[in-house]
Amino acid sequence: MRIIVVGAGLSGLAAARELHSRGHNVTVFDKGRGVGGRLATRRAGTATFDHGAQFFTVRSEEFQKQVDEWLHSGVVREWCRGFETEDGHPRYVGTNGMTALAKHLATGLDVRTSSLVFSLAQQPSGWIVTTDDGVKHEAEAVILTAPLPQSFSLLFSAGVEMPNDLRGIDYDRTVGLLVTLASHQHSVPAPGGLQNPNDVFSFIGNNAAKGVSGATAITFHANPQWSLDNFDRSLEELGADLLLAAQPWLQGSVVVHREIKKWRFATPQRVWPEPCWAHESGSLVLAGDAFNGPKVEGAYLSGLAAAATIAS
Ligand SMILES: Cc1cc2nc3c(=O)[nH]c(=O)nc-3n(C[C@H](O)[C@H](O)[C@H](O)COP(=O)(O)OP(=O)(O)OC[C@H]3O[C@@H](n4cnc5c(N)ncnc54)[C@H](O)[C@@H]3O)c2cc1C
Repeated sequence: MRIIVVGAGLSGLAAARELHSRGHNVTVFDKGRGVGGRLATRRAGTATFDHGAQFFTVRSEEFQKQVDEWLHSGVVREWCRGFETEDGHPRYVGTNGMTALAKHLATGLDVRTSSLVFSLAQQPSGWIVTTDDGVKHEAEAVILTAPLPQSFSLLFSAGVEMPNDLRGIDYDRTVGLLVTLASHQHSVPAPGGLQNPNDVFSFIGNNAAKGVSGATAITFHANPQWSLDNFDRSLEELGADLLLAAQPWLQGSVVVHREIKKWRFATPQRVWPEPCWAHESGSLVLAGDAFNGPKVEGAYLSGLAAAATIAS
């Protein structure tokens, strides 16, 4: 089958890999400059920041099998087993940053980045997907893995209805502050992560302690409420306020670089009970972290479920 996957985040790449391994002809389009979506790693000089997902955990046997392979090939490694206290559950990270995981999955696939899919149309033999260069691509089946409000606009262009409950799933926002320090002086304790440390931040991650950054590079993620209340303010204002809130962990160190990153669709507020959603044609499937749980594992398993639905 000729299959198009929209989105080269974890769910899209997991689906594409699975279908490719079953012998299908798969193309993945992503509007971003690189692969990974919310598995995002950014370099600034000698500093490296994970600024989307910070780490991931494993709950299912199916995902554990995949993670064991990634561990074996050195794509991921265990970071720690808890932050302030250990709970025995491994927290994994991409060895060279979280994007490395997506890059690994994308190897050998036909992935076209900087390609925004802006419309979808149904035809008797399948679907026509139009990208922002005006090219129309025909496919027998399509998997959409963008955050649901973005997939919804594609479905709308095709005149396809999706269940109201699914359409109504909104996403929390995240505003992130990325800071490079001139020295190793800071007070983010080993192993380098803090969850909900105050009423502004939901996570503080020391990328040097994670082993992904040479320089001391700290990611501060504002919590959903703070991010919602402040999302539309200017980058300057957000930078100033978050830097002030970060002071207790910076111990007066000189900040050599700072940057704000905004995620409009960071985390689904509700999760659809099925691992993916299939259109009545059976040849159009929606997947992503809104289906299996708002995390790395859920996105991966949703991608696999979408591939199985298309291939069945
Ligand atoms: C700040 C933040 C922190 C997080 N922390 C954690 C964590 O610590 N642990 C954890 O397990 N999870 C975490 N998550 C969640 C995790 O990152 C996601 O669950 C997972 O990466 C989602 O993968 P996905 O493939 O479903 O979606 P995405 O990664 O969002 O992939 C969708 C892709 O679709 C592309 N796209 C959208 N519209 C179009 C279009 N029209 N045409 C072409 N391409 C399009 C996008 O560019 C994107 O690459 C975090 C997320 C954020 C934002």
